[in-house]
Amino acid sequence: MNDKYTLEEINYAIGGRHGLNDEQYRELLRTIRILDNDIIDKITDEIFFFDVGKGEAWRFPTKHLRGMKSIICFSSDIFKFSIKKMQFNILHEIAHHILDHKCFVDISGIDNIKRQEKEADKLAKEWIEKASRGVDCG
Ligand SMILES: [Zn+2]
Repeated sequence: MNDKYTLEEINYAIGGRHGLNDEQYRELLRTIRILDNDIIDKITDEIFFFDVGKGEAWRFPTKHLRGMKSIICFSSDIFKFSIKKMQFNILHEIAHHILDHKCFVDISGIDNIKRQEKEADKLAKEWIEKASRGVDCG
């Protein structure tokens, strides 16, 4: 499909609103680009990404950061994973945002937390499968 956003267009939409180093940011752009444009619009408008050293990745909702609705934190470690695993991690966190999931401290019960995790896994997997089926000529 020729109407998919380019990396430059996604970069422009993010407009420097992130706290990742160059390499992490490049991988984030490449990962985001596999998604449909309407989802990319939401991501670039509503999510602030940054790097938090250790751990894996997490996302929490916010109402207080310049109109951003979620903050997604990545540890530098996830960028050392295989491309597939790294993309899955990034998309899993983005899926929490798209599904409008609550922060784990705001939901009661381990079952609800597990349900949200399963839903995010499922959507991330669907995005990856859809992208691998599509022929990208861009
Ligand atoms: Zn999760």
